[in-house]
Amino acid sequence: MKSIRLRAGKERSLQRRHPWIFQGSIEKGRADAGETVRVDSAEGDFLCWAAFSPESQIRARAWSFDAAERIDAAFFQRRIESAVAVRARLPIASDAVRLIHGESDGLPGLIVDRYGDTLVAQFGTAGTERWKEVIADALLAATGLARLYERSDASVRGLEGLPEVRGWLRGEGGTEIVIQEHEWRLSLDVAEGHKTGYYLDQRDSRKKFAEVVRHYGVKSVLNCFSYTGGFSVAALAGGAEEVISVDSSGPALARACAHVALNGFDAARHTALDADVNQTLRRYLQEGRTFDAIVLDPPKFAPTAAHAERAARAYKDINRLGLKLLAPGGLLFTFSCSGGIPPDLFHKIVAGAGLDAGVDGFILDRVGAAPDHPQTINFPEGEYLKGLLILKR
Ligand code: SAH
Repeated sequence: MKSIRLRAGKERSLQRRHPWIFQGSIEKGRADAGETVRVDSAEGDFLCWAAFSPESQIRARAWSFDAAERIDAAFFQRRIESAVAVRARLPIASDAVRLIHGESDGLPGLIVDRYGDTLVAQFGTAGTERWKEVIADALLAATGLARLYERSDASVRGLEGLPEVRGWLRGEGGTEIVIQEHEWRLSLDVAEGHKTGYYLDQRDSRKKFAEVVRHYGVKSVLNCFSYTGGFSVAALAGGAEEVISVDSSGPALARACAHVALNGFDAARHTALDADVNQTLRRYLQEGRTFDAIVLDPPKFAPTAAHAERAARAYKDINRLGLKLLAPGGLLFTFSCSGGIPPDLFHKIVAGAGLDAGVDGFILDRVGAAPDHPQTINFPEGEYLKGLLILKR
């Protein structure tokens, strides 16, 4: 068994069970891509078993903090069974569920979503790549399912020196799937959609949006960064008369329109706008349009804290425009999925946007990712998605 030794004082985050070991923390030792190493402190005390990533800044990721634990097929079976079992206890109103959420489930770099009878996995690190076959078998065994599609095409693979891969890993067949989320039917293509096909993390916020649309009697909705129209379907279900989905992806908008029909709503209540959100918000402002509710769910502007400043300006700008475009008493449901923007900073950005817009509001709710995307108490990076529901005064 190979081992690596940390520099003096670099053991503290591991002692707090934070699973990442950065390149600069390592005094000596190396291993092959994905190989399991024993990690010791400068004093030679055992800290964890970890997967080595020779090409990544995050040079190793902890599998286990238990010196007696062996990292073998049984280890992956245990971790996967435990993650699947906890999902069965969580309140998830859907047959589409995140089963494995990386570090939060003790499996750094592994993302697994279930869409009906199909599993979709992303192997993001050298460690998960090395154990891919074992992980695939354990996933089928733990779920009783037969189909597993690989979506290892995220850019993070590049940082690990791994090529992008997509295709069936187990089973075969069509990649088009219909899921049930709350009372709604939604479709996706596991081979083509963003991430593994759909944004499962916003499930509970979509439900919340349907409820507030109904409660506040919202008539007109602008759903910005709509993707395949999850929030638009929610708005229609809540009774909105006029819903506009704005996105720069034509295929996503085509699916949004299909979702309106699939759920039995009159197509005349929905408009799909293939456009840049920034330009669209500015145009509506010039035209003097207003909306009763606006959703802002942009892509990750700040993947890491290093991008936080520029991202903060981008978030502030769309929130300023959104607040201005709201009718008095209107609702803004605004999100950031950037790991580099912590919740308190996001709140400050939205506060600044309100000041610039000359708009005040009540914060009705603070929301996060659905519970199948858990955050553990030792891994603050896990808190990436945050949202504020604001009532304009
Ligand atoms: N709210 C969605 C998820 C949004 S993901 C849901 O509930 O499923 C972010 C979306 O923003 C993607 O669909 C992407 O195509 C879109 N996007 C990114 N930049 C954009 C821009 N400048 N203008 C319009 N859409 C954009």
